[in-house]
Amino acid sequence: MNTQEWVKQVIKQEEIDKYLVNGEDFINEDLIWDVINKNQEPTKEQIQKILEKSLRIERLEPDEVAALMAVKDEELWKEMRKAALEVKKKVYDNRIVFFAPLYCSSYCVNSCKYCGFRCENKDEKRILLEMNQVKQETEAVIDEGHKRMIVVFGEHNKSDVDYMAECIQNIYSVKTPAKNGKGFNSIRRVNVNAAPLSIGNLKKLWRAGIGTYQVFQETYDKKIYEEVHPKETIKGNYRWRLYALHRAMEAGIDDVAIGALFGLADWRFDVMGLIYHTIDLEKHFGIGPHTISFPRLQPAPGSYISEHSKYLVDDENFKKIVTVLRLAVPYTGLIVTAREDKDIKREVLSYGCTQTDASTKIGVGAYTEAKKQEDNEDAVQFMLGDQRSLDEVIAELIDDGYITSFCTAGYRCGRTGDKIMGLLKTGLEGKFCKLNAILTFREYLNDYASEETRRKGEILIEKEMKEIEESDFFKDKKLINTFKLYYDKIKNGERDLYI
Ligand code: SAM
Ligand code: SF4
Repeated sequence: MNTQEWVKQVIKQEEIDKYLVNGEDFINEDLIWDVINKNQEPTKEQIQKILEKSLRIERLEPDEVAALMAVKDEELWKEMRKAALEVKKKVYDNRIVFFAPLYCSSYCVNSCKYCGFRCENKDEKRILLEMNQVKQETEAVIDEGHKRMIVVFGEHNKSDVDYMAECIQNIYSVKTPAKNGKGFNSIRRVNVNAAPLSIGNLKKLWRAGIGTYQVFQETYDKKIYEEVHPKETIKGNYRWRLYALHRAMEAGIDDVAIGALFGLADWRFDVMGLIYHTIDLEKHFGIGPHTISFPRLQPAPGSYISEHSKYLVDDENFKKIVTVLRLAVPYTGLIVTAREDKDIKREVLSYGCTQTDASTKIGVGAYTEAKKQEDNEDAVQFMLGDQRSLDEVIAELIDDGYITSFCTAGYRCGRTGDKIMGLLKTGLEGKFCKLNAILTFREYLNDYASEETRRKGEILIEKEMKEIEESDFFKDKKLINTFKLYYDKIKNGERDLYI
């Protein structure tokens, strides 16, 4: 099948129609604007009531989210950030989860106006990694200390679902010897960020061992969506994308990740879009998204809109987005990526975000070549704001009192989908995760940390161990002895022990 024929058979209309209600999707623009407009003057009391609801770890309703976004009083925003931090502590404690993106292919049949990979960008060098290159890239990522990866693909028949499945399997197969000579390290979870697929193709990814499936709607504003995604392209079909994660759930992938590319449309509208998306997933499948992303538009080679969109989001509004989302969907992970510069990243990690990346390279094949981003401008999708190594970012987080987690135990023990949501809501997952986070943090300190990071990390672990020992929860559950046993074994060079 040639590329044009392939493009024609991607969208399955019946896999859109089945989710519509009376022919309508769940984004009702007039309704969203009504909700935003009628909640423009919330009182302090109203806001405090909403914060109490978040603190009970309940998802907020659209009216409540609109009210939070409309707050003008700076003091009240401070209170909201404080509540956001409290929510985060309740659900996630002081853990930050790390991952690394791996770009496998820059071929793309779409022409999104903000992206360096758009097919009309003739300056873009197109690269598709061969499987031996996928393995080399994986080795380089493992050698930084990562255990979780998200693989990223343009939409093209060269990188179709079989190619994606092969990448996933090859990544899992890579084992690199630990530096101390004891055991091997590997990637333990492979997530995917790719174009929307049909249910049949999603089942193939599920069989290949996909972790989370991530698709960003880019913008929920239909008019702007049409302007930035040419009609004749696959991505020009708003509803095919809108229901991508419904199809994933149906295919058995119960960890799905939503997101919007902030800067294309009014940020308040896209926050509401994310909330309505969450609600519709909950309605159909009983659980919402595993994570939410809110990347900000970054300058992309040859893309006018990426630098001149009238909706570009400044730092102040970006912080508001994080605060509101943390309060609105308390049990969902929030991701901030290396697109953001280090100071803003540090700040939003402190009260909202739970996951981030580091030592990131977004050129296809760039980990192996270890090329500097500046040398590689014609092979990247957009430019990064934070290019620090994993070790540097971890060291900073230790200073801020955060444990770095590479834990993937939850998924491997079947704590996914509605099971993990239930545990997160009651705070139980947080307790298991704390122990597993420390175990994986110890692994990192053994194998990859600089001397200074190891020293600081060990002091933090000591403090955490003391807190754990004193906590009633762990005494009751008698987990502590197993944990200590595992911790000592890992300290002595064993790998991949989890509770
Ligand atoms: N091709 C697939 C798709 O479009 O869903 C997946 C890969 S695409 C490279 C991943 C994400 O990169 C997109 O969903 C978009 O949100 C983001 N992206 C594209 N251009 C960007 C830019 N200039 N700045 C920030 N993020 C961008
Ligand atoms: Fe292709 Fe995705 Fe970039 Fe759009 S955002 S041009 S679909 S890689």
